[in-house]
Amino acid sequence: MASTARINAIKSFRCYTIREAAEITGVSTRTICTWIKAGLPVMDDQRPHLIRGDDLRNFIRSRRKERKTETKLHEFFCLRCHALRFAAGGFAECHIDGNRVTVKALCSVCSTVMNKPVAKARLHELEGKLELLDSEEGGASMFETPYPETAQNLGKKR
Ligand SMILES: [Zn+2]
Repeated sequence: MASTARINAIKSFRCYTIREAAEITGVSTRTICTWIKAGLPVMDDQRPHLIRGDDLRNFIRSRRKERKTETKLHEFFCLRCHALRFAAGGFAECHIDGNRVTVKALCSVCSTVMNKPVAKARLHELEGKLELLDSEEGGASMFETPYPETAQNLGKKR
């Protein structure tokens, strides 16, 4: 269970493989993979994926905080601000993969990309609060390269 993840043994300046990260926090490798999908940063240029200790610790802490503060449907937890934020410009992007939906938006304060899983059944509720842009599976996200310019402009405008 994510709620019992241990952070005491994590060393900030060490990098962990998914297996090592699972061992040190006491969760399953599957949970670590779920966290990565939910926004836990990994070092992209490394295979197998490596996770920085401080990222891992911050991620677990922010999840605890998120659980406590209970995010509203149209709010996101920004990993950089460590706070609940609204979507910049009122835009969010939906990535639908079977029954899993990930909604991406930019932090209205620091323009960092924020991810959150949303139940497919609740998507229509979200539509009333945010302008949702569909993203085709495997298609490029406007919040990520190769269009970083667009993302930055979106964060500033409106
Ligand atoms: Zn932010």
